[in-house]
Formats: sequence, C-alpha cells, structure tokens
Amino acid sequence: MSIPPLMPVYPRCDVRPVRGEHCHLISEDGSRYLDFAAGIAVNLLGHSDERLIGAIQRQAATLMHVSNLYGSPQQEELAQKLVRHSFADTVFFTNSGAEAVEACIKTARSYHHAGGQAERFELITFNNAFHGRTMATISASNQAKMHKGFAPLLPGFRYCEFNDLTAAKNAIGPNTAGFLVEPIQGEGGVRVASKAFLRGLRALADEHDLMLVLDEVQCGVGRTGTLYAYEQYGIHPDILATAKGIGGGFPLGACLSTEKAARGMTFGAHGSTYGGNPLAMAAGSAVMDIVTEEVFLKQVAHAGEMVRKGLEQFIGNYTGLFEGVRGLGLMLGLKMKVEPRPLMQHLRDRHGLLTVAAGDMTLRLLPPLVIGETEIAEFYERLSDGCASYALSDAA
Ligand code: PLP
Repeated sequence: MSIPPLMPVYPRCDVRPVRGEHCHLISEDGSRYLDFAAGIAVNLLGHSDERLIGAIQRQAATLMHVSNLYGSPQQEELAQKLVRHSFADTVFFTNSGAEAVEACIKTARSYHHAGGQAERFELITFNNAFHGRTMATISASNQAKMHKGFAPLLPGFRYCEFNDLTAAKNAIGPNTAGFLVEPIQGEGGVRVASKAFLRGLRALADEHDLMLVLDEVQCGVGRTGTLYAYEQYGIHPDILATAKGIGGGFPLGACLSTEKAARGMTFGAHGSTYGGNPLAMAAGSAVMDIVTEEVFLKQVAHAGEMVRKGLEQFIGNYTGLFEGVRGLGLMLGLKMKVEPRPLMQHLRDRHGLLTVAAGDMTLRLLPPLVIGETEIAEFYERLSDGCASYALSDAA
C-alpha cells in the first residue's frame, strides 16, 4: 500500500510542532518558531494561555458533552455574550468555520422560504473568496482549484468581482437571496473590502429585501482591532459566520443572526451533535471575556499599527520583492511582486518565522493578538535577516 494512514490532502512541511509557549511553537526536534500564523488566525491568545487552559480543564472535569436534546446553560451563556457584543439577536453553534457558513447559507435561504419566496435561494458571492471545504462552501467560491474532482457543485451561487458594487447590483435577479462576503478576504490575499463596497451591499440588501451575510471566520474576533470587522464599516449584517479565533484553539464556530433573518430557523430546521458542546462553550466564553475588554482591542489596534508602520518602512529595502502592505489590525498581508511561497518557506526553515502564503501573491501575517513589543522586535529581526539572506539566495 502506498497511501499513508493519514490521508495525504495537505502538502505538509517538515515542521512538526509538539508544544506551544505564548507566541512560539516548539517542534519535535526542539526548534523554536515565532508564530506569526497562529494556526491561520486561530490561536488569538497565543499558546498555553492559562485562562483558556483553566476554563477547558474545569469544564472537562465537570461535563464534556451532552446532546442538544437537553437545555444548555453553557450555550445560553456564550450566546448571551455574543448577542450583547454584536448586532445579533440569536446564535447557532457549530464546530468549524465551514459549518458556520453552511448555517448562514441555510438561514439566508430559509428567510425567503419562510416569507413565501422559496425561489429566492441564490447568494451572490465574490471572486477569490474562501468560505470552507464542504460542498456548499466550495460551491460558494469561484476558485476552480477547490472544485476539481468534486462536480457537480451545488447550485445557488453567483460570482461577482470583489469590491465591484456595480457588478453586485447587476447580478441581482428574481432568485437572489442575498450577498455572502468576507469583509477582508483571507485566503484570497488579505484584500480589504472598501467602505463604499460593503456599505453599498448593505444599501442594496435593504432596497431589495436581501440578506447581507458576512463571513468573518478569519477576520472576526478582535483580529482587526474591533470585535468584528463590520464595526469599522458603520454597517450591520443580517447574518454572520464566526469561527477560528472564537475558540482560541478549541474547535468552535457560530452563525449569528438578527431575529428577522432567522425567521425560518425554527424547530428541526438545523442541528449538530457536537455543536455547542460544553467544552467548546467554556473555551468560547473564556475567549469572549478577554477579547471584549476594551483594553484588549485597543492593544490589538496598537500592535497592528506598530507592525504595519514597520512593514511600510521595511519593504522599501526590498522593492524587487514587495509591492505594499494590506490589511487591518493584526490581519496583515505583504503583497509581493514574486510568488510568496518560497519566501514563506525560507523564513520558516532558515529563520524560524512562521507566516502563511495566500492568494494574489500575498504573504499573510496573522500573529496571536497578544503580541507585544518583544515579539514585534523579534519578528523584525527574523524578517530582516530572512529577507537579507533570501535576496542573496537562488530562490529570489
Ligand atoms: N471562511 C473563511 C473566511 C475562512 O478563512 C475559513 C478558513 O480558512 C473558512 C470559512 C472555513 O473554516 P474551517 O476551516 O474552520 O471550516
């Protein structure tokens, strides 16, 4: 047999982390890495945060899993926190980002079904989007590389150019249920939606009774310096998908909705065996308590400014490599003039700095949100050394 026991769907690198310490990962062979990837925007409190560990340990020793057939004080507590701190009136818990997006898609479709317009099932989505790897979420993306081998895709998605309001407007038809959009495209290359675009989608949604569904799986939970990125646009969505950072490393996602948008989500409409399990709720509650502190969010915005300003100066030294800096808060991208993957590998393997390559020739920087001046200084040291040796290497 040539297939390994672990299904080979990931092109895994040689780094094999076995331990985490604050903003560092330590691999099997003892090497230390500065983690500016954070599990792709997941470990927002870094690794081994005492508060998160304590919450999970206490809950594990008390009650790990119960069915959603029973009442859930743990889910009610976290739902209450999310409702208090966001646009939402109601929450459905999932185990991942893709499941959260799935729940959002169902909520948007069922809104129209409940209003007697079942023909309005189509979501307008945007080029280079990433919404997950389930059949519905790959169908929601125009990225052909994710479709290969999995046809037929699910009907009900129509792709438009990102940040092109006219295209979105022209795509509205009798079957349109709403828009599904990332305020900042993550996998697509840290592409930030313009204010005019998101506000325009909100206005179109209001005008045509459409659902504005935001996918904040990557950009949500404090990463941009506000709890959710939409706050910086002066708009509210109808439905929002959150995941990744919300569990701080524990698998957790959620579909947040207004009361109006959730009118079709009645008894029996949706479900999940593990969604909302007490362990995930303990993790999510601990994360929410920390992230919603004003001083925490201010610190994220401050750290984001520091890293960004430094990057803007730094890239001037390597005009052949970098084109510009993108992003908001601590969701940052270096737009490159060359393929970012070789540099990402060089920084990782030779300089112990973990970053993530993204689409649109972009190198993503997604550090834990708890980085301070020490980690930022270490980041610049590793980046400077890394780019200097990279520029001299054959890969450049
Ligand atoms: N949506 C966005 C914007 C994402 O970035 C991701 C994951 O990268 C997902 C959805 C899917 O999340 P998950 O991998 O937890 O299913």
